[in-house]
Amino acid sequence: MPLEEVARMEDLSPTVTLQRLLLASLAALLASCAGGGSTRSKYGDRPGPKGFPVVVIDAGHGGKDSGTPGRLGIPEKHVALSIAQRVQRRLAPQFKTVMTRNSDRFIELDARASFASRHGSAVLVSIHLNSSSSRICGPETYYWRTDSYSLARRVQQNLNAVVPYKNGNRGLVRRRLRLTRNPSIPCILVECGYLSNSREASLLANASYQDRIAEAIARAVRDQKAYGDAGMGPLPRPIYAPPSLPTDPRE
Ligand SMILES: [Zn+2]
Repeated sequence: MPLEEVARMEDLSPTVTLQRLLLASLAALLASCAGGGSTRSKYGDRPGPKGFPVVVIDAGHGGKDSGTPGRLGIPEKHVALSIAQRVQRRLAPQFKTVMTRNSDRFIELDARASFASRHGSAVLVSIHLNSSSSRICGPETYYWRTDSYSLARRVQQNLNAVVPYKNGNRGLVRRRLRLTRNPSIPCILVECGYLSNSREASLLANASYQDRIAEAIARAVRDQKAYGDAGMGPLPRPIYAPPSLPTDPRE
């Protein structure tokens, strides 16, 4: 509504009306930063979840999007689905589990994020494999939000115990991605290892190693459900950043 029109309706001068509008916008901005009174923060600035009954498991890529081709010629999308299904089988006795895909099909990232957001008391675990120079190896776990920190840290700790060589812990990475920022539920993205490293690619293609990776992730989810943030140290400060967009850096 134009400013003059508001002033006429309230019988106020345009200056007073402008001040009121500015105050109202500021209040709205503060409310949105604080969650706006809704049950969930848009920014994930709450503590980590505990006692959640649902886990959304996202196998990265699929269909026309193969992800990284890898050193052994087994594309990321197949390894990601295989590990995701192993995670699902381990969690199914204790959780309602939901897969974003259970076959080799393409799904947009934004569709994955909104699918995850449709589930109430849940967490999202997205599973990927990494690629870089052939020397780099080891799992790393991405998170962005305060409510996702403990789960990410538990996953990374458990994965670190699985990697059978030194220098294999790439650690936690705080990165704003569409699947670490945008869903309305706590959300992490796990890079289970580097398919660009010959030794790690061989491991990751192996069913028993995939089982060990899956068990590490599943254990972290069970621990998060049982203990919430307990034992994970101080939470990182929230960072109020806008949703991640397709034009942002690679995911
Ligand atoms: Zn990927």
